[in-house]
Amino acid sequence: MSGRVSLVTGGSRGIGLAIARRLQRAGDTVAITYKSTAPDELVKDDGTGVPLRALACDVTSPDDVDATFTEIEATLGPVEVLVCSAGITDDALLLRMGEERWASVIETDLTACYRTTKRALGPMLRARAGRVVLVSSVVAYLGNPGQTNYAAAKAGLVGFARSLAREVASRSITVNVVAPGLIATDMLAAVATERADAMTERVPLGRLGEADEVAAAVQFLCSADASYVTGAVLAVDGGLGMGH
Ligand code: NDP
Repeated sequence: MSGRVSLVTGGSRGIGLAIARRLQRAGDTVAITYKSTAPDELVKDDGTGVPLRALACDVTSPDDVDATFTEIEATLGPVEVLVCSAGITDDALLLRMGEERWASVIETDLTACYRTTKRALGPMLRARAGRVVLVSSVVAYLGNPGQTNYAAAKAGLVGFARSLAREVASRSITVNVVAPGLIATDMLAAVATERADAMTERVPLGRLGEADEVAAAVQFLCSADASYVTGAVLAVDGGLGMGH
């Protein structure tokens, strides 16, 4: 399966960028979305000679999402592989978590995946083929103090993916989830060092993961080799969440 059109939301940094680069190296034409990262940083290629196609898109905006797909469809063709990696955290203990903080994380990390996947689905149904991968988190099933909003969103993705996987399986569209653990990106850098060190001590493999290690799992789920895998939650967490 090469030469496909793939879209990675949140592909400007961290895990999303690593996924985009992997899909690109495998031969896909890859579009990525960014919200705040300057597009100049994104058009650089990584030695493959092919720059990523970067599109400004705030995934919390239905109009932005629709315009992004319309642009890709007009210039590259229908999206055959969708990876939803855009995400934020906004931590607070529940009693201090206002409605806004709750809503912004649910909107970005859960509702935006509903919106983006729904927009991608029409052409996939017509093609009777497609791959959807949603980036969840080990926090979805372990929980984490201060992250009730994030954990609810990330756990919601699992139910969403499994329900949708059943809806579209007859059209050979697969819908899967990856659940990363502690991955060295800007998102983790925002966590206090002592807290990050304490969390790393609980990882059986004894270290943080790399964005490219998550990307490898996503690449598999997007590949022809994963043709019989749907509704799965693939942990990439150094063993942190094993047994759940
Ligand atoms: P980063 O903070 O490094 O990158 C976040 C990405 O999401 C950026 O590309 C950012 O775009 C994009 N983004 C955020 N909000 C929006 C928005 N409203 N519209 C469009 N794009 C947006 O995060 P990671 O790479 O670490 O995380 C990627 C995914 O992996 C997230 O879903 C996260 O929850 C998940 N994850 C991360 C873990 C970790 O330890 N790092 C662990 C488990 C899961 P821009 O650059 O333009 O700001």
